Amino acid sequence: MKPCHSCRSVIDEYFLDKQLETLRDLTVDDFNICADCVTIVDDACVECGGGVYVPQNESDVPDYCPACRSDLIARTGQDPGWNCDTIST
Ligand SMILES: [Zn+2]
Ligand SMILES: [Zn+2]
Repeated sequence: MKPCHSCRSVIDEYFLDKQLETLRDLTVDDFNICADCVTIVDDACVECGGGVYVPQNESDVPDYCPACRSDLIARTGQDPGWNCDTIST
């Protein structure tokens, strides 16, 4: 069992897995934070319509889920960031 990076409690992988269900690709192994500290917003991804993961230091809900963001990086060679309106080109 791994401790949460944020609150130091032991990560309950069952609850975290439930929490991550709406995300593409990401599993409990990709996170070092517990279900209480992770923020997932359902149906918020502009690309796939799936859930997005809100990074701890972000206050805005991202437009892309982590899987679509890495797809975009692979496709364009550029990191779009978390929000589609940050693209300036
Ligand atoms: Zn935590
Ligand atoms: Zn997506």
